[in-house]
Amino acid sequence: MRIVLLGPPGAGKGTQAQFLSERLSIPAISTGDIFRANVGGGTDLGRQAQAFMDKGELVPDDITNAMVRDRLGDGSAANGFLLDGYPRNPDQAVELDTMLADFDTHLDVAIEITADVEEVTSRLLSRAEIEGRSDDTEDVIRRRLEVYATETAPVSAYYEGRGVLRQIDGTGDITEVTARLFHAVGV
Ligand code: AMP
Repeated sequence: MRIVLLGPPGAGKGTQAQFLSERLSIPAISTGDIFRANVGGGTDLGRQAQAFMDKGELVPDDITNAMVRDRLGDGSAANGFLLDGYPRNPDQAVELDTMLADFDTHLDVAIEITADVEEVTSRLLSRAEIEGRSDDTEDVIRRRLEVYATETAPVSAYYEGRGVLRQIDGTGDITEVTARLFHAVGV
């Protein structure tokens, strides 16, 4: 299956992506993780991305799209994938469709994990204490949530228009959310 996981920062996408990827034996591809690995490794890509990430802004589409195209074309995603954190705006969603058409395939489903702003803000602040991510400070969290509302939320409407959107409630226990997710995917 080819799946996109949508939802605000702090909705639990990364955690749930791991469970679903194991269940379906497909790679979970997180653009945020790839960027962080490049920042940590001091690559050119990392240097280009870091300033945007530290401010809570989106990394420009040309950089992000090229990275995703490379990753989806590298063979391990040939039999399916789960994208976490991409697409982040409608232009990226259109670009993903183009990439998949170039690979003679298409997206099966987009799952949106919903959670309200207060819930995700408190989750992100507690994650900040545990993981120490440089973009989990209060100001940057606020900006990431604004960017989500203005740029990323419209991506759901794009997939709804295509008839492939399913929404699940991201509040409650991790295991409850996983059960909703598996149900939404039909596994
Ligand atoms: P995440 O781990 O998904 O919260 O992503 C962390 C940061 O990486 C974001 O705040 C952006 O700066 C950057 N990023 C991740 N995915 C994308 C994307 N699809 N487009 C642009 N920037 C992204």
